[in-house]
Amino acid sequence: MLVVMRKDATAEQIRGVQEAIEVRGFKAHAIPGAQRTAIGVTGNKGALEAPALEGLPGVLEVIPVTHAYKLVSREVKTENTIVTVGEVEVGGPELVLVAGPCAVETVEQTLAIARAVKSAGAHILRGGAFKPRTSPYSFQGLGEAGLRILAEAREATGLPVVSEAIDVESVDLVEKYCDAIQVGARNMQNFSLLKRVGKAKKPVLLKRGLSATLEEFLMSAEYILAEGNYAVILCERGVRTFSDFSRNTLDLAIVPTVKQISHLPIFVDPSHGTGRRDKVAPLSRAAAAVGADGLIIEVHNDPNRALSDGPQSLTPEMFAELVTDLRKIAPVIGRTL
Ligand code: PEP
Ligand code: MN
Repeated sequence: MLVVMRKDATAEQIRGVQEAIEVRGFKAHAIPGAQRTAIGVTGNKGALEAPALEGLPGVLEVIPVTHAYKLVSREVKTENTIVTVGEVEVGGPELVLVAGPCAVETVEQTLAIARAVKSAGAHILRGGAFKPRTSPYSFQGLGEAGLRILAEAREATGLPVVSEAIDVESVDLVEKYCDAIQVGARNMQNFSLLKRVGKAKKPVLLKRGLSATLEEFLMSAEYILAEGNYAVILCERGVRTFSDFSRNTLDLAIVPTVKQISHLPIFVDPSHGTGRRDKVAPLSRAAAAVGADGLIIEVHNDPNRALSDGPQSLTPEMFAELVTDLRKIAPVIGRTL
């Protein structure tokens, strides 16, 4: 349910409505808009009667939210959400580029890649310190030491950093060192992790699960918002299909679909989406054209020796070339880069 406040509603009236919602055992989420404030109502205690709120001072109308997802829905908030990572605004006019290695391996590797992607035009540095690997014998990431290297790279380049938390335990460290917390595809429905990052003070980059439907994806984001963290960036990274020529099938149609029904920004990850270096640039161009708010791209200075995801990693030169193309595409779709 959504309580829409009048344009001239006072802060006191807004608080009064929030209290009226909370005394009934529900949660009130004030969503300030350009025109007026709306208050989203969530909770699992059963139905809350609209008339109980309709008569309160400052209330314009009470409208039922028809989708299962509430806070992520455009029904609840019509304007696009801008998520700020460091000082980078995601969801605004700028096409945001996140680039970096799949995994942080060494200080030298991370600094070299960070400097290269920064000079090519990247806005945010990525790098995994906790890696969710299919095999327990594969490189699992450097853990806290890797996060320290990322923080050092931020210091050296000014780029904000994003890294994955693979479980509830690793969130504290990722939150401490990074500017945004990634929740990976394999964890999209790890509900305790979603609730924990929902309490975090940093933005969350939520990747779509390997076979998640649109509704499941949005419901996972809903978990995070329901805990009070509204800074969520969605990310399409390909889904499993019968198609056998790429690692995953990049579902670009989800971008305009999400834009219609949600106010949250959405990124595209053409690296995991294709798994092949030669397909990353074409799919990046397509993702930009289809309206993605940003791209997250794996870049390695020595891809053939990368400890993870080398086959899908671009060289810094390939990344720079791609940025040149994206700079031509961005203005056509009303974006800056
Ligand atoms: C990653 O970004 O390195 C990663 C593991 O992504 P995903 O969770 O999409 O597989
Ligand atoms: Mn990877």
